[in-house]
Amino acid sequence: MRSVSIFGATGSIGEQTVDLLQRAGGAEAFRIVALTGGRNIARLAEMARALRAEVAVCADPAGLAELRTRLEGSGVAAAAGPEAIAEAADRPADWVMSAIVGAAGLEPGLRALRHGTTLALANKESLVTAGPLVMAEAARHGARILPVDSEHSAIFQALVGEDVTAVERIILTASGGALRDWPLEQLARATVRDALAHPNWAMGQRITIDSASMFNKALEVIETREYFGVEPDQVEVIIHPESLIHSMVGFRDGAIMAHMGAPDMRHSIGYALNWPDRSHLPVARLDLAQIARLSFRAPEMARYPALRLAREVMARRGLAGAAFNAAKEVALDHFLAGGIGFMQMAEVVEAVLAALDGELSKEIGQMTLEDVQGMDHLARVRANEIAQVAAGAR
Ligand code: NAD
Ligand code: MG
Repeated sequence: MRSVSIFGATGSIGEQTVDLLQRAGGAEAFRIVALTGGRNIARLAEMARALRAEVAVCADPAGLAELRTRLEGSGVAAAAGPEAIAEAADRPADWVMSAIVGAAGLEPGLRALRHGTTLALANKESLVTAGPLVMAEAARHGARILPVDSEHSAIFQALVGEDVTAVERIILTASGGALRDWPLEQLARATVRDALAHPNWAMGQRITIDSASMFNKALEVIETREYFGVEPDQVEVIIHPESLIHSMVGFRDGAIMAHMGAPDMRHSIGYALNWPDRSHLPVARLDLAQIARLSFRAPEMARYPALRLAREVMARRGLAGAAFNAAKEVALDHFLAGGIGFMQMAEVVEAVLAALDGELSKEIGQMTLEDVQGMDHLARVRANEIAQVAAGAR
């Protein structure tokens, strides 16, 4: 029986993973090792009971008493706090879903890789902040990473049976987000509500705003470079408003392999769960005649400064990804709180990268978790200072 753990089980990706596990037989078909969650303790306890998990862990230590109470008599052990989450990753499991949001997802993923597990990686921040470290740990321990982000799953699938040296370019598709058709000069005034009106995907609030600003695509460009080992100039972004092609790989003979499907994350979660097989998945089938046409357009650089910053980060590498991600998260907090404007998010991130310029270099082979966490902290402090000044100047 395959053993499975889910980090971030109560989130959007986590819930969809649980849904697929339940449909595939749940506790009868899988041995569920660890489930972790954040603040939604009721839901965490409910899924841990249903899947008969060995342990359920919540991020906040203050939630432990409630978690214990809710799990009473179930046989599921309860634990809490970041250290307990990291320890849960030391419990061997054949397949581990990394779906915690943010930099907190890095450590459990790294720990799981050290046990040679197959890591289904949804957490973008792992490859953005510590790509070389994550890939080296996987290689060292013979662990496999299966990408879960729809773009990277699409690229992975387009590469099955291919020689990676024949890859000329990787083309990431982007919806363009909620504000893609707004006049440029109005973007500075876009509100949180405006940025949340995503055309195609139903996702969490933060990632939806990151889609509108294309910070999400910027993270994915960096992830692509790190995961597939291609050069930065081999990674392209194209706006594809229908979101039916999830990404493409161009080969040296001019052929392009595109991956299509309904915009449903259970595609890529299910692919990672069933890999290397394909099993039936409960996702909508495309009616191509009804869709009739697909469209593409180049992203305007003035509209999406995050894409330019991603190029800078890839050129710098080292700890630039950790600084970029942390600054982006803080800038987003300030935008959500109404402190800074929509276009000021990129200005804050750019200013943080400039302020930390002398501290971003790091020999790739020497990078440690502590370096990454240190830079994450430093960049957050700087980003808060810079965002406060930006808010005052508004
Ligand atoms: P989410 O916010 O819905 O869920 C995140 C999960 O992590 C929850 O279980 C939450 O309780 C937990 N969590 C939050 N902060 C934590 C902390 N400090 N410590 C421990 N646990 C914590 O997020 P999501 O949309 O499911 O995304 C998860 C990851 O997958 C992100 O990195 C995201 O970028 C990536 N991703 C998401 C989607 C999507 O469609 N939702 C698509 C592609 C990639
Ligand atoms: Mg994506």
